[in-house]
Parts: sequence; structure tokens; C-alpha cells
Amino acid sequence: MSGGAAESRPAGPVAAFAHRAEHFRPSPVRAVFEHAMRPGIVSLAGGNPDTGVLPHEVLAGMTARILSERGPEVLQYGSGAGIARLTGLVCELMALGGAVATPDRIQVTAGSQAGLDLVTKLFCDPGDVVVAEGPTYVGALGVFGSYEVEVQHVDVDEDGVDPEAVAARIDALRTVGRTVKLVYTVPTFHNPTGVTLTEPRRRRLVEVCAQRGVPVLEDDAYGLLGFDRAHRLPSLYSLDPGAVIHLGSFSKIFSPALRLGWIAAEPSVRARLQIAAEAVTIHPSVLSQELAVEYVGSEHWRPALDRAAARYRARCAAMMEALETYMPAGVRWTRPCGGFFTWLDLDPDADHGDLMHRGLEHGVALVPGGACYADGRPSTSLRLAFSAASEAEIAEGVRRVGEMLRDGVRRRAGD
Ligand code: PMP
Repeated sequence: MSGGAAESRPAGPVAAFAHRAEHFRPSPVRAVFEHAMRPGIVSLAGGNPDTGVLPHEVLAGMTARILSERGPEVLQYGSGAGIARLTGLVCELMALGGAVATPDRIQVTAGSQAGLDLVTKLFCDPGDVVVAEGPTYVGALGVFGSYEVEVQHVDVDEDGVDPEAVAARIDALRTVGRTVKLVYTVPTFHNPTGVTLTEPRRRRLVEVCAQRGVPVLEDDAYGLLGFDRAHRLPSLYSLDPGAVIHLGSFSKIFSPALRLGWIAAEPSVRARLQIAAEAVTIHPSVLSQELAVEYVGSEHWRPALDRAAARYRARCAAMMEALETYMPAGVRWTRPCGGFFTWLDLDPDADHGDLMHRGLEHGVALVPGGACYADGRPSTSLRLAFSAASEAEIAEGVRRVGEMLRDGVRRRAGD
């Protein structure tokens, strides 16, 4: 007798996975990373800081000093919210974006990625909706998917997302009985497009969301990396701290390896986030926090940040020049004022195939645009990072992208 259903059931522990495990998807960007390491490939894929801006020599001395002066204390378990000196420093960083934050509003996290996870865990039930820019940060799609949350995209133009379109989407979703829990946005030097939400749109976005009682989740991983250091827009959090939850990160302004970020939220929200965080990590790394306090709080940091921003500005300029030189007619790209990325819109009527593999065949790693949408649509766009490659590599990488785009594009209509 055949075993029927029993035979087709997967064997072993996989059979016992929770339903949500079906929604755990590998990040397409991390998949590109593996290939990007191959010899001969120019990587314009990862949003990595330039290794030249990572302060390893200064940190070597600081680590030795901290361990010799306060070793037992920094190697011990620590506070769930983060050490007081760091939450104080975070408030100073937030003041650079015009926000008045107090330490009782700050939850330190293992990178802003963990902050994104904790906020989603606290607010979202399966089937809830998050409204986000289209395209959006790939890592956010992974988090929302793993909590079985549906992402509804609202288009981005060169001024960021249109607040009226966000409001209309929330209203339309409510009309059909859906629950919108968060509006997720990367308003400054957006990942993946590089655009920045204008000040009038910032004010209006916060307003329309507050009117509808939907918290804005502001992801500000790149906010301090503007090319024009004199011109800084107010953070969404600074405009309405009661209506906005802010995610900050030390990854791009210090080091990603130390895994440090923060959430700023009103005290009642922060207290719940701490409970959620403690259940996962107990507390953020004390040694990492001590290093951030010592380095970011030192006289080294501001000049180093200025040098890093100047380097990214030069690389962005090199990328813009290479795009002018090598892109075929009809390709359009964004002109960022900060951050790590530019975004290319390709011919929407052409079949561009698997852009990641086509890029690798031409010796360049890139992020296909489709990866930045929850519905995994075919890519008619792509993201290029200018942060980690030298000017010469950028020129060569963009040349290869141009070659790829000229080579083998087919019209969808089939000629
Ligand atoms: N948000 C955005 C928009 C990002 O680009 C990144 C990193 N690429 C993160 C969050 C996560 O950064 P981290 O966890 O290193 O702070």
C-alpha cells in the first residue's frame, strides 16, 4: 500500500518549521556579495563603507586602553537599553538632524537592522500592511516578509515619495478593510535610489500619517553622509517625535562590524522595545558601545566624517561622469546629494533578463532593481553603489554596465 500524504511530507526537522519560515528569503544583495568577491569582478553592488574610512588604527589603541583601564566592566553583561554614555551621545547625533531627543527615548540595538526587526515585531501582526517607498531597502523587505507583513509600495520620484500618494494609499487600503501599521521610509539619501525627500514633503508626510494615526518609521542610516555639509534637512523625527520612530546607525559613520544602531521613540514605545530586544540579545555589546563612545565622542570623529563625506562625494562625481560617458540612450539615473547609491531606470519595454547574472558575465556586480520590490517584479532598473570602489574601478564598472546594456537587450514585443 502506498503511503500517500505521509510519503510526500518533508522528512526531518524541516517538516516542523513554523508557517512564517516560508517567508524567510535570502537577501538578493547578500547573494551578489558572494559573486562580487570573485577575482576580476568590479563590485558596484554592496552598500559598504570604503575600507579606507574605517578607523582601525585609532581603534586598536582605544580598545587596548579600554580593556586595560576597565576590562572587567566592559566584558560583563550590560544594560538592556544601552550604556548611558552612548544614549547621551546618540541624543547629540540626533541633534545634528534638528531633533531634541532625551536618553529615555533611546534604545541601542545591534545595528539598525535589528531596530527594524524589533519595531516590526512590536507593531505588526501577520496580514498587516506596511506602506513603503517603491523601490525600498532590500533588508527591510526581508524583515517585513519574515513577520508575514504585506508591503504596499508608493512610487519615488527625484523629490522622494509623494505624501499625498501615501495618504491616498492608506485610505484606499482602509476602505477595503486592511490594517496599515507603519509607513516605512528612508527619507535621506535613500537606499536604493539616492534621492532625498524635500522639506515640504517631509512636513506633509509626517502630517498625513499623524492625521491617520499611522506611525512613520524613519530609517536614517545615511543622514550624516551629505556631500554638502552645510545643508541638512530636518529629520522626520524632529518634526513630530510623537508620530515618528527613528532608526539610526553607527555602521556608515563609524564601523558596520561593531553592529551598533539605535531606535528613538516615545518612552512608552521605547520601554516595550527594550523588552523585545532583551528577549533576543539581552543587551547590546558593551565593548562596541564603549568604542563608539570613545571614538564618536572624540576629536577624531568629526574630521573623519568630513573626510569620508568628501570621499563619497568624489566617488559619486566619478560615477556621474562615467554614466554620462558609457550609458546608452534612454537610460536615466538619479543625482544623489549624499549616501552611497545611484539608481538607473532602463527601457521599461525591454526584457533585461537576469541583470545580476548578466552583470557578472560582463565582470560587474550590481543590484537588480526588481530585488527592491516586494513583488519581485522583473528588473527594468538597477542600483549602483559608489561608496566602496575606487574612482578607476567605478569608471571601469560603469563601462561594463554600459556594455551589458547594449548587449542582448530584447524588445518585449518579440522582434
Ligand atoms: N537601513 C538601510 C536603509 C540600510 O541601507 C542599511 C544597511 N545597508 C540598514 C538599515 C542596516 O544597517 P545596520 O544594521 O548596519 O545599521
